[in-house]
Amino acid sequence: MEYRRTAVIKLDTPEGVDDSLRETVKQFKHCANTASEWCWHGDDGYHVTSKAKAERALYDRLRDETDLTANLVQKGIRRAVEAVKSGVSRLERGENTSQPYFSADSAVYDKRSATFHRDHVSLSTINGRVECDYILPDDSETPPTKYVSDEDFEFRMAHLQYRDGDWYLHASMRKVEANEEPSESESKHRTVLGVDLGVNNLAVTSTGRFWSADEFNHWRREYEKRRGSLQQCGSRHAHETIESVGQKEYGRFEIHLHTVANELIEEAVENDCSHIVFEDLTHIRENIPEATWQHVWAFRRLYEYVEYKAKEHGVEVVQVDPRNTSKRCSTCGFTHGTNRSGESFECQQCGYENHADYNASKNIGLQYLRRQQNADDGGAPVDVRLNRGTLNVSGEHVPPASVEA
Ligand SMILES: [Zn+2]
Repeated sequence: MEYRRTAVIKLDTPEGVDDSLRETVKQFKHCANTASEWCWHGDDGYHVTSKAKAERALYDRLRDETDLTANLVQKGIRRAVEAVKSGVSRLERGENTSQPYFSADSAVYDKRSATFHRDHVSLSTINGRVECDYILPDDSETPPTKYVSDEDFEFRMAHLQYRDGDWYLHASMRKVEANEEPSESESKHRTVLGVDLGVNNLAVTSTGRFWSADEFNHWRREYEKRRGSLQQCGSRHAHETIESVGQKEYGRFEIHLHTVANELIEEAVENDCSHIVFEDLTHIRENIPEATWQHVWAFRRLYEYVEYKAKEHGVEVVQVDPRNTSKRCSTCGFTHGTNRSGESFECQQCGYENHADYNASKNIGLQYLRRQQNADDGGAPVDVRLNRGTLNVSGEHVPPASVEA
């Protein structure tokens, strides 16, 4: 038996936060109303009730027109599709209805766009994350205090609503049974972010985001140069200077790696990914022969930072066998050394062309999904998050046209 409760929680919103929330909700409504208009008038005279179809048609445009995160744009579109769907069933029952219009100041948040705590919430807005404390009744037996403070109730999702000058969170909460894994149904659907590591680009994700290794390579060359010139002196003083130069440069680069790690996690969270997939770093030197010991150090540090920090966001970090990830075509699966030439990838079978590291990052994501599909019942829907689209386990991508971007 499952208990579900909706807790209406009043939020404490400082002035700047209030402005961010207003604009976010306004843009969310814009997404929902644009999608409602498009779905209602439809394609070839039919109402559109497919979320995938609506997202394919509207996602890029709404990302351009708003400052919302990927997740909120999707939620806006989905909200409209749901409303159009109920409109269509009313029509089918012969009832009178018209195109859904969203006038209330409200937006939909799930665990990707919000982090629910027991005394405050962190919400994604057009100006980044904002935090709002809850204003709860003192009596712990009164809702919403009763549910919010009860660890047996977990937050599922929430509607953020503005009413009479105040902001409220209408949070749906579910009682977790003692013998039950929380969010089991959620873990069944896996969407992953593949990450390729390399010497020209430190990291490239399957969403098409690149982190250049320029800064790292500069640091490495400077370090080698100073070490070389100091070593020629050969004195004890010179040796100590090498150490201190190394420490300073190394510290600066560690900060840079932290930034890259945070941005990688942000990319996963914004794209609704449950997992970040890296290649197995055990034999990294054989897999990337150009890598120096500093590169290997940087890859391992980056992995460790991401693994450590991703937990806070409920994102899992995993590794896969890196064999063939750079030679394999992420579109048709054809695997051959001649597919890749330096930074460019061109499949000798299907002609697919793209940046070699980007192709590899997609393969890394796919590799994990294939492994999981074999491991569990095989029925779980799985996909790799791509630049404005997803790639499913059979390698077809949606929408095909934008993957090349
Ligand atoms: Zn191919």
